[in-house]
Amino acid sequence: MAQQPVHRLPSYLNPEALGPWGVYLEQVDRVTPYLGELGKWVETLKRPKRALIVDIPIKLDNGVIAHFEGYRVQHNTSRGPGKGGVRYHQDVTLAEVMALAAWMSVKSAAVNLPFGGAKGGIRLDPHQYSLDELERITRRYTSEIGVIIGPNKDIPAPDVNTNAQTMAWMMDTYSMNEGGTTTGVVTGKPVSLGGSLGRVEATGRGVFVTGREAAHDCGIALEGARVVVQGFGNVGGTAARLFHEQGAKIIAVQDHTGCVHNANGLDIHALLQYAEEHGGVAGAPETESMAPSDFWALETELLIPAALESQINADNAGSIQARIIVEGANGPTTPQADDILTSQGVLIVPDVIANAGGVTVSYFEWVQDFSSFYWTETEINHRLESMMRAAYTATSAVAKTHKVTLRTAAFIVGCARILEARQVRGLYP
Ligand code: GLU
Repeated sequence: MAQQPVHRLPSYLNPEALGPWGVYLEQVDRVTPYLGELGKWVETLKRPKRALIVDIPIKLDNGVIAHFEGYRVQHNTSRGPGKGGVRYHQDVTLAEVMALAAWMSVKSAAVNLPFGGAKGGIRLDPHQYSLDELERITRRYTSEIGVIIGPNKDIPAPDVNTNAQTMAWMMDTYSMNEGGTTTGVVTGKPVSLGGSLGRVEATGRGVFVTGREAAHDCGIALEGARVVVQGFGNVGGTAARLFHEQGAKIIAVQDHTGCVHNANGLDIHALLQYAEEHGGVAGAPETESMAPSDFWALETELLIPAALESQINADNAGSIQARIIVEGANGPTTPQADDILTSQGVLIVPDVIANAGGVTVSYFEWVQDFSSFYWTETEINHRLESMMRAAYTATSAVAKTHKVTLRTAAFIVGCARILEARQVRGLYP
């Protein structure tokens, strides 16, 4: 007699505490009807291939021993090695890192990079620690996850609160443990260490390119278009600057210090410098401060969420008066907000396309490291621009064919590519 398979939900699938992982699962459910025969593999997407939790003990500058919780999740490696950033944040959880890893799988596949999806994180507020402490934390974390990363296995990169210096420490630690310099183990490194020109700006540049394409589709000229940006770090700051340089008017910016507004357009170069010197935008000259609820309700052509997950949700979606949302952050919009905004006629360029510029130039960096031959910045920006444009155009065509949102279209393309690879590889052992 045929045995019934036992389907027990993994422990982390607690519907009470799903957060971003729950958002991701719902996105997968929404795409499943469009996957045809490949749908029989969809369960693969609903659980990470591998998740590692590590303890990171270090000696603080004052001599006290502190322990931090770190994660590295490899969601899927069907199409290539795991790829994705490492986030340092006090609210990071395993479930969040799982969602971020899963979005990396879909993103890499949607823009057709030969990578799977992975993500890492350490649960700490990096602003509370000295540079020396952060170096020790990063090095111990790298040693602990060293068993599962590598240039052909899983390649970390910067994410929220990590940067080129963090990647240099990771690359050095991995190399010392391996006994040979291995530049290709991480991307987003300093240029002096096998990093790629254009990598720092790449995510913001991709947001700009896809936003520009979407504006063009909606008949909106960038010259004079209003833009509202949440998050003024590497992604939001660069995107704001590029839109500003094309004649758009950035009328409001929000970061962790507050919201600043100027209906005539903020001086973005001055604001970037102010934020650099003061640790945030609050109190910048020639700006008015604004309550977060007013910030979301601003009338604007483009709204760019470039901070953390679930910022646009059922509570504020109804008040949003943007024509286009370009998701610089990962997972900034919940499925409920997606539905509200779509019914209001707002075009959403989803994260897995809009912010894929970072991982695209990470791919260029990885290729350059393997060949030890480095490209010019013009070459990189040119290739990035054409890949981002192609991804937007292809997603838009699929959306029209199936009469679905750009998010569902990007998930159709990405998930089908992953599951096709899954199917053709087969199960082993
Ligand atoms: N952290 C970035 C992202 O979320 C880049 C990841 C990478 O370059 O691997 O897409």
